[in-house]
Amino acid sequence: MDSIDKLTEIFKEFPGIGERQAKRFVYFLMSRNGNYTSDFTRLITELKQEVSQCKECFKFFLFKDGNNNLCEVCSSTNTDTSLLLVVEKDSDLESIKKSRVYNGRYFILGGLVPIVEKTTKSRVRIEELKRKISNSPKTALGEIILAFSLSPQGDYTDQYVREQIAEACEKNNIKVSSLGRGLSTGTELEYSDNETLKNALKNRQ
Ligand SMILES: [Zn+2]
Repeated sequence: MDSIDKLTEIFKEFPGIGERQAKRFVYFLMSRNGNYTSDFTRLITELKQEVSQCKECFKFFLFKDGNNNLCEVCSSTNTDTSLLLVVEKDSDLESIKKSRVYNGRYFILGGLVPIVEKTTKSRVRIEELKRKISNSPKTALGEIILAFSLSPQGDYTDQYVREQIAEACEKNNIKVSSLGRGLSTGTELEYSDNETLKNALKNRQ
């Protein structure tokens, strides 16, 4: 495999990128001068050096002040620790955080559960979520809000997570809710506006 093929394979793994687009990226890089590509590779290297994954919510964050264990949300004393919002990915968390309609903690599941899939557990952080619920001191966590996209796969994930965490939640007296139908079907959470998110949270059930 030559470097064109190897790079194409890498770009193909990016979300939403197919073979043809991946090839276009490679040809684009080839057409750029040396500075462009060396800046590009340096930035990627720096990204890995400056970014850490939060051990509580699994969000990626730029660490400073020597704290590379907890993100700014999990280390903040101003958040409502009785609420835990479960989202699919980092960009969903970012848009909810930016909307300022929610002030609790988060948990990033790491993906949606495919409807036909036998090896689900290796793809999403369901075991980590269960552990988090079981380890939370009684009365500390009051409600878990499931906030997945309104799509068949999002609905399936909602149902799957509910089943998986039911026992642990019942034991610790934690309520489980899902975002209300303020979001229209097919809407990606990360593209929803503030008003929509606010209504979805208010109408959670
Ligand atoms: Zn965190």
